[in-house]
Amino acid sequence: MNTTPKKMLPLYAKVSSALAREAVYAGALPISRLPRLADALADNTGEMAVDLHLARDARRAPKLEGEISGALNLQCQRCLRVFAWPLSCPVDLRLVFNEEEETRVMKEAEAYLVADDNLPLHAIVEEEVLLALPLAPRCERDDCSPH
Ligand SMILES: [Zn+2]
Repeated sequence: MNTTPKKMLPLYAKVSSALAREAVYAGALPISRLPRLADALADNTGEMAVDLHLARDARRAPKLEGEISGALNLQCQRCLRVFAWPLSCPVDLRLVFNEEEETRVMKEAEAYLVADDNLPLHAIVEEEVLLALPLAPRCERDDCSPH
């Protein structure tokens, strides 16, 4: 039996050193740590599994890539019951370091403007998941009917 406590996703990644060693940031992130996301869900229970890595693409441009997954409790807009919505959200962000670069990159990729050397991993995950949430969640149960 595996009793090792789950590793938590670090709050920040240090961009310069993380890029140099193509660091991997993997771990659990409880919904309760993300107040804006918790407000958009039916409750603040559960957690997500986050697997991100910093690397350079073929053109040496820095990227944050990976995947966020988990089950989020949403309220069905039709029957109003809470159900577990399966989250599977790819992350593919080009890291840019000034606004000029941001404007240029945004034409071809999703850009993230790094304010200082710290990449706020929790805040980035929260933003990505908020964007991935369905606008009108439906539980898709057989007996789903208007409340
Ligand atoms: Zn329903």
